Amino acid sequence: MTAPARTRSSAELIQAEEPVLAHNYHPLPVVVSRAEGTWVEDVEGRRYLDMLAGYSALNFGHRNPVLIEAAHRQLDRLTLTSRAFHNDQLAEFAESLAELTGLDMVLPMNTGAEAVESAVKVARKWAYEVKGVPAGRATIVVAAGNFHGRTTTIVSFSTDETARAGFGPFTPGFRIVPYNDLAALQAAVDETTAAVLIEPIQGEAGVVIPDEGYLTGVRELTRRAGCLFIADEIQSGLGRTGRTLAVEHEGVLPDVLLLGKALGGGIVPVSAVVARREVLGVLRPGEHGSTFGGNPLAAAVGSAVVGLLKTGDFQLRAAELGVVLRDGLTALVGKGVVGFRSRGLWAGVDVDPVIGTGREISERLMAEGILVKDTHGSTIRLAPPLTITEEELRSALGALEKVLAA
Ligand SMILES: *Cc1c(COP(=O)(O)O)cnc(C)c1O
Repeated sequence: MTAPARTRSSAELIQAEEPVLAHNYHPLPVVVSRAEGTWVEDVEGRRYLDMLAGYSALNFGHRNPVLIEAAHRQLDRLTLTSRAFHNDQLAEFAESLAELTGLDMVLPMNTGAEAVESAVKVARKWAYEVKGVPAGRATIVVAAGNFHGRTTTIVSFSTDETARAGFGPFTPGFRIVPYNDLAALQAAVDETTAAVLIEPIQGEAGVVIPDEGYLTGVRELTRRAGCLFIADEIQSGLGRTGRTLAVEHEGVLPDVLLLGKALGGGIVPVSAVVARREVLGVLRPGEHGSTFGGNPLAAAVGSAVVGLLKTGDFQLRAAELGVVLRDGLTALVGKGVVGFRSRGLWAGVDVDPVIGTGREISERLMAEGILVKDTHGSTIRLAPPLTITEEELRSALGALEKVLAA
């Protein structure tokens, strides 16, 4: 007789991962088995307030009922066709995303890194076919401190040694300039430049917000230089900062927008390159693709995500509660917080290193029932679901105050 199935404890599951799971992450010691809205629950039934929201993949909360309903409806009808055939969900997804962003065309992909890779390819092709850059000479200018994903080409232009070391040889054709430095950008752009690729706010770097005028400057500079402005809004976009897009804070529209994370509603990976017709128009059949990109399940969920954003409610909430977050953090400056940067419901908080590393602070917050993630050194990142209530947000700030005072 076989022994009755026994559910393994959190500690046992963590231990079971060790020999069989690649060690490319160092998760907090919490094993989540259920979630709803802003709350997750571990195997033992302990509840935690999720102040990370899957790095902004869960902007609309865990298992948002509207999105889950859209996914269920689609699961019961059609899940995958490949792009060898049309599917009845893709037109609406592309139309709604183009309308939401104010751009013309959509290239559906799956992960954020794929959207970035796709944009690199499209920008190069645009440079050769439209701008007239000599074959093989196109360059793309990026910013130091960037995070655009993990593929070989993307880490080729990372400045994070941990992300690069041991993974060469690297893809050529990139120039790295300091972030938030228009003069350096101007100096790096020349007749070979296909595009400038930046994050409007650098997320992984610790929610680094450029000076007012930087994004406007990038827009004007790229227009004058005749190259593309590609904004990676995979983390900053879709409501996080209090606007649909972070570039809206300066009222600029890039030529190419990269979306991902929250576009999949926390259900499936959905990313997209959204661009002007002149740019995405360079792709012809067979030149680029993805088996899963634009699948009907992804398209149905993506359309439902755009539907949520069209109401403006989430953006408004992020803006309003962003004030509560900023005021709460301001009150902690000098009480364990040495500085912070925030926009909407997104903050990078630099904790006094004497109190602990970002990792240690995260572990202590976990003991208080709050889940966050450190970025570098003693910086923690706060990015709750945009569905968080004011009371929940205040309780998270209270827990942070308690941890910093201990
Ligand atoms: C997360 C992220 C990516 C990569 O997305 P994946 O889905 O993890 O491949 C790219 N750019 C930015 C700004 C991100 O935050």
